[in-house]
Amino acid sequence: MPEGVAREAVIDVGAIEHNVRHLARVTASEVIAVVKADGYGHGAVRSARAALAGGAARLAVADVGEALELRAAGIDAPVLAWLHAPGADFAEAAAARIELGVSSLEQVRAAAAAGSRERPVTVQLKVETGLGRNGIAPADYGAVFAEAAALEEAGVIRVLGLFSHLSNTSAADDRTALSRFTVAQAAAEAAGLRPPLRHIAASHAALDLPEARLGCVRLGVAIYGLSPFADRSSADLGLRPAMTLRAAVAAVRRVPAGQGVSYGYLHRTASESTLALISMGYADGVPRAASGAGPVSIGGRTFPVAGRIAMDQFVVDVGDAPVAVGDEAVLFGDPATGVPAATDWADAADTINYEIVTRIGPRVPRREV
Ligand code: PLP
Repeated sequence: MPEGVAREAVIDVGAIEHNVRHLARVTASEVIAVVKADGYGHGAVRSARAALAGGAARLAVADVGEALELRAAGIDAPVLAWLHAPGADFAEAAAARIELGVSSLEQVRAAAAAGSRERPVTVQLKVETGLGRNGIAPADYGAVFAEAAALEEAGVIRVLGLFSHLSNTSAADDRTALSRFTVAQAAAEAAGLRPPLRHIAASHAALDLPEARLGCVRLGVAIYGLSPFADRSSADLGLRPAMTLRAAVAAVRRVPAGQGVSYGYLHRTASESTLALISMGYADGVPRAASGAGPVSIGGRTFPVAGRIAMDQFVVDVGDAPVAVGDEAVLFGDPATGVPAATDWADAADTINYEIVTRIGPRVPRREV
């Protein structure tokens, strides 16, 4: 660990660049890099830059505020934002040339209201194909597409794309959604729309369901080197995890057998043992649900968290291993280097790797390498 650093998330931007290049090759598709939620915890701006360096054609985020942050950092690439507050006003987004994912007649009209013939607003129509979230409902395809076509004809919007999102429940469910997407496309064409971009696949379908690629894929978790599958690792997919979460051992204490550890004494030492204190806790995004289970690599060996993870700290019972204050404790990183994976923490906390990386908190400095 660098001197004086208590904890950090090391972000390997070269890994993101590699992953995007690799994914574009294996999917033979244009990549929209999803950098919402602060780039899945990796830092939105650095992730966006790395993804663009790896050949991503476009960027996507959930809300306009996230898109504006990219613009404020000088990122000029196309950015799509698809989740908007009720009654949102798109003037600022339009001025910053943010592409708006629109899910309703109201949003199409609000986008048009922010556009002009001199500066039409670019929209992508988001359609509902079975996920039950946002997206234009099939019953509304006709009315919304007709309005979008009229507003495009009037020159105040430009309809660049048609897109949807899959549940990844099963290939059969995703194929059903794909056939609904074909219906939406036919309805758009019948209304006179010819959006040049179509995209429906996120990481899971992009890797597993070739017919969902449509020449353009919208990738989040995989660009950060994490597998969207329970039964395939990053390495199986040719991906390199970009985040390493680590901390310096803050204190060590030799204790007798029977020593209770942390709240509730969920752990007691079986024999005389060394306890290593790690100054990171659930306030930093280390999931409390992984108490007693989350793996930590210290000195080339992996130990489970001993007892409860507290708000700011947790303990590792390292037995007789020669652990000293300042030693590096790695919670997760690239398993190819012998450390646990974010997925191991997800398994320990009964969640998914997405949640592990996106919840790493602001007290953990990100250091780019
Ligand atoms: N598209 C939409 C609409 C999303 O909500 C997400 C993430 O939740 C993505 C794409 C990226 O998904 P993934 O991280 O599984 O690639």
